[in-house]
Amino acid sequence: MRYEQDRNSSGEVLRLLIQKMAAHPAAFTPLNYTVWYEYTTGINPPLSAAVSKVLDGGNSLDDKTIEKLYTTYISEFNTEAQQESLQELLGKIAGFTAETDRQAHQFGNSLQAYGKTLKENLDAPKLDALINNMAGDTNKMRGSMQSLQTELESSKQQVDKLQKELQSARGEALSDPLTGILNRRGFEGAAKLTFDDESALAKGVCLLMVDIDHFKKVNDTYGHLFGDKIIRAIADTLKSKIRGQDAVARLGGEEFAVLLTETNLAGARIVAENVRQSIERGKIRRLDTQEQISGITISIGVTTYSSGKSIVDLIDQADKALYVSKGSGRNKTTIFEQT
Ligand code: GH3
Ligand code: MG
Ligand code: MG
Repeated sequence: MRYEQDRNSSGEVLRLLIQKMAAHPAAFTPLNYTVWYEYTTGINPPLSAAVSKVLDGGNSLDDKTIEKLYTTYISEFNTEAQQESLQELLGKIAGFTAETDRQAHQFGNSLQAYGKTLKENLDAPKLDALINNMAGDTNKMRGSMQSLQTELESSKQQVDKLQKELQSARGEALSDPLTGILNRRGFEGAAKLTFDDESALAKGVCLLMVDIDHFKKVNDTYGHLFGDKIIRAIADTLKSKIRGQDAVARLGGEEFAVLLTETNLAGARIVAENVRQSIERGKIRRLDTQEQISGITISIGVTTYSSGKSIVDLIDQADKALYVSKGSGRNKTTIFEQT
């Protein structure tokens, strides 16, 4: 077990940590607690050394630092456990394969034996018995091939799951945990696929940059949790307004990007306006008082791919258009224009 302290000694750690964590700006998340816990109990020497270095340098532990420490020194630890499960899995597959191989060999031998017997002159009952035996052996073989296949399929699922865990442990996750849509890394991957595909570019590619209006005020008025609910609702709306091949991502904070393929500027403007109006009309229920809040709006900047431009260029253009939307009263869609 990773943590071996009993209730009493872990209680002491808890009391100590509340004070320590309060003196630093990071949020009181389980991740933050884990870092402090492992540092204080000293069970993770490389982490302790890294934290000491931060603290000795007079720096404080903020969310970014905590996350980095966690990813580097704690979640990487789990890869040991993951390696173990992978080894166990490989052992299981090897066992099954060997067993199927043994049976296939046996099956081959019996087929040969049947062949030899057939060369003799067999009377009808003997031939009948031989055919019966052959059918029985063939069925057995088929059964064992089928269980091998089932085993391989379930192993593949386990490998996929391990791979996802490993990616997220290394901070390589492609989706945003709050909304389930792509994160920045995922978006870059999706954009690369599109930009590497000449024929996709030729069919028209557009980019929407979306930013929530006066979001700071929304958070200040209704609380951060309600703010998160809005972020999720906007992600859901964006998702519902695009087609399967389009990519929608939360690039950070309250900012989203949508990459539309097989779409010209006129089409992209329609999508943008559709999303903007649907957010403008929407109502979201408050978590505490159940009051329906309306008046949440977004601003959008839209641009289209033109020959020689990169995704970075497009983001820059759409950002400029978004800035124009913000400057001209918000709750607007602006198309980028080359000046
Ligand atoms: P503008 O209309 O110009 O975009 O104003 P704004 O207040 O939306 O812009 P600003 O960039 O000043 O503030 C963004 C705010 O978004 C600040 C921050 O508190 C909030 N925010 C960023 N990420 C999150 C998040 O994950 N959840 C919540 N609830 N709020 C967030
Ligand atoms: Mg913003
Ligand atoms: Mg904003």
